[in-house]
Amino acid sequence: MYYFDPHIHMVSRTTDDYETLSKMGCVAVSEPAFWAGYDRGSVDGFRDYFEQLTSFEPSRAAQYGIQHYTWLCINAKEAENVELSREVIAMIPEFLNRPGVLGIGEIGLNKNTRNEATIFLEHLDLAMETNEQILIHTPHLEDKHQGTRMILDMLTGDQRINRNRVLVDHVEEHTIRPVLDAGFWAGMTLYPVSKCTPERAADMVEMHGPDHLLVNSAGDWGPSKPTAVPDFLLEMRRRGHAESLIRRVVYDNPIEFFSQSRGFNFQVPE
Ligand SMILES: [Zn+2]
Repeated sequence: MYYFDPHIHMVSRTTDDYETLSKMGCVAVSEPAFWAGYDRGSVDGFRDYFEQLTSFEPSRAAQYGIQHYTWLCINAKEAENVELSREVIAMIPEFLNRPGVLGIGEIGLNKNTRNEATIFLEHLDLAMETNEQILIHTPHLEDKHQGTRMILDMLTGDQRINRNRVLVDHVEEHTIRPVLDAGFWAGMTLYPVSKCTPERAADMVEMHGPDHLLVNSAGDWGPSKPTAVPDFLLEMRRRGHAESLIRRVVYDNPIEFFSQSRGFNFQVPE
């Protein structure tokens, strides 16, 4: 079955990983801007990173028949530096009309601080002024419930936001319902250490249905597994779910959500 990984940080993966993903049926990935393994010292560090995300990664992916899309922002971890964050936000429009750019993300909270919230709101302004979609990072473990609540309050308090154009990632059992009930899309991140396993993701599809739900691997600098979406697919098959239901979550839903971005020029595989 063809599938789409809607949240994977390929800059931290090897070319061998692209080959493996391709062999497993991955036809497209979307890569949000995130931490690069170190805190960048200047706006030019981000400009170079956005260059990598919008030119090198798409060409590396294309060698394996994978379509590569991306999202741009300064992540919550580095948003503690408010001055640098504002310089990055002012620079992002240089890249927004490049092919394959889907919107602003992954923005959100990390430790739920005041500076993170300030920069989150300034990213929302940028997305509204440029008519971009939004991809959200919710914090991990003990910070997740409160952070998700704060993020949802900021989003629903802004009347300009079309909730159908916002994806809230890293949902778990205790945060999925408020995200879906408010009319947002929700992403489950399959991860070996924190976040969610393929079994828990299958449970959540069974409990909440496939509407507005995506699964992704994150594939970042921490312990993570870039082939976690096929693990979910296998778990769903093992439970006897219809291929059409599985396909909806791993292929149709990401395409439906991303199709709202003007930078999404998806070519349906033959
Ligand atoms: Zn991420």
